[in-house]
Amino acid sequence: MIEQNLIKIKKNIPKNVTLVAVSKTKPNSDILEAYNAGQRIFGENKIQEMAEKHNELPKDIQWHMIGHLQSNKVKYMAHFVDLIHGVDRFKTLKEINKQAKKHKRVIKCLLQVKIAKEDTKFGFSFEDVKQLITTKELAELENIEIIGLMGMATFTDDEMQLSEEFSSLKVLFDQLKKEHSKLNVLSMGMSGDYQLAIKNGSNMVRVGSAIFGARNYIA
Ligand SMILES: *Cc1c(COP(=O)(O)O)cnc(C)c1O
Repeated sequence: MIEQNLIKIKKNIPKNVTLVAVSKTKPNSDILEAYNAGQRIFGENKIQEMAEKHNELPKDIQWHMIGHLQSNKVKYMAHFVDLIHGVDRFKTLKEINKQAKKHKRVIKCLLQVKIAKEDTKFGFSFEDVKQLITTKELAELENIEIIGLMGMATFTDDEMQLSEEFSSLKVLFDQLKKEHSKLNVLSMGMSGDYQLAIKNGSNMVRVGSAIFGARNYIA
């Protein structure tokens, strides 16, 4: 099933959109099935789980951290993580920078922006992002590179609301991009809403259950 699901989803997304296969809670055997079908980018939301999988699985997998970050665990992924999606505090950026430096790496990050109307979601406000991105403090972190933004919409079926939330982030992204040419990635969209997210400007989608099937816990 995993292979068929992947093929179907790939057909449904334009070439310029990067598919992150979200494998959290799923066993290595599932990941290998997707790997053997050609998938190389996988997303996890727990640092330790991702580090274990990184150890056990083929080394050409690119691991994306999509979950909320605890600063004290950044060290467990600093030597291999390819992209960190969910950065929502300057303090975390400083820690990523420090750990990246130890490994002589530059770690790519996305700033998570709060677009959902519900208040359970993490993220910077629009104003905070606009402000942060111009600061000297950020420029001084030489071992991180901010390459885009990430957003999570409200958990709802209301397509109007989803479109509004996604497009609000696209507007911010386009604004910032004018002055910061390194911003290239707009990570929005999951299994239930990735097509809508792409219509509204996403170029990176994080799809889990539509590839691997339902997870047996509430993530
Ligand atoms: C779990 C998760 C996803 C994938 O969710 P699905 O609905 O299974 O596609 C995407 N993004 C984040 C941040 C997640 O935690």
